[in-house]
Amino acid sequence: YFISFEGVDGSGKSTQIKKLETFFFNKGYQVVLTREPGGTKIGEKIRDIILDTSNEKMTYMTEALLYAASRAQHVEQIIGPAIEAGKIVICDRFVDSSVAYQGYGRKLGKCINVINGYAVNGYMPDMTFLMRVKPDVGSGRIKDRERDRIEMENEDFYKRVYEGYEILEKDFPGRIIGIDASQTIEDIEKTITSHIEYLLRN
Ligand code: C5P
Repeated sequence: YFISFEGVDGSGKSTQIKKLETFFFNKGYQVVLTREPGGTKIGEKIRDIILDTSNEKMTYMTEALLYAASRAQHVEQIIGPAIEAGKIVICDRFVDSSVAYQGYGRKLGKCINVINGYAVNGYMPDMTFLMRVKPDVGSGRIKDRERDRIEMENEDFYKRVYEGYEILEKDFPGRIIGIDASQTIEDIEKTITSHIEYLLRN
């Protein structure tokens, strides 16, 4: 199975990802926990280019294509082989991030789906947990390491990302499961576990 986690920064994704990894591990599954660029050398280099602010300003389309390029490498080298080997893949962000951030946030629209159609090469998550947290609540939880970069982005951008995720949730009701991230860690864990148990039964 292929499971992804989505949501704005500080929504508690990483805590729940670790809990889900333990859940699968305890059931005897082999789990691959990954995130883009997923430790691929080429992906890391692409990521460095995206994050390098010393150059001239990167166009939004360049950014979108680089994220997709990094994803193509990640799918081909890590995600695809793990799924084919019968492992559980848990991915911290996947194509929905590009739709939300580049498609809605950067207003690039539907071309993000087209570009990423090539990048994912048919591999899509069986289940996606969308950690829903209002933009202002999210920023209160943002970790220090991320704060500087986040403050550089404007509020409207994050509002659009949030709305983008809401639209995605409506567009893919079977795959994307919205989780109220303002609940306690234990309650969120219970909800996620019950959805996973349903997935494993079917
Ligand atoms: O939560 P995480 O550390 O993965 O977030 C990294 C940041 O990278 C996001 O908040 C967002 O600003 C950016 N990002 C993006 N487009 C993506 C994935 C991440 O702009 N497709």
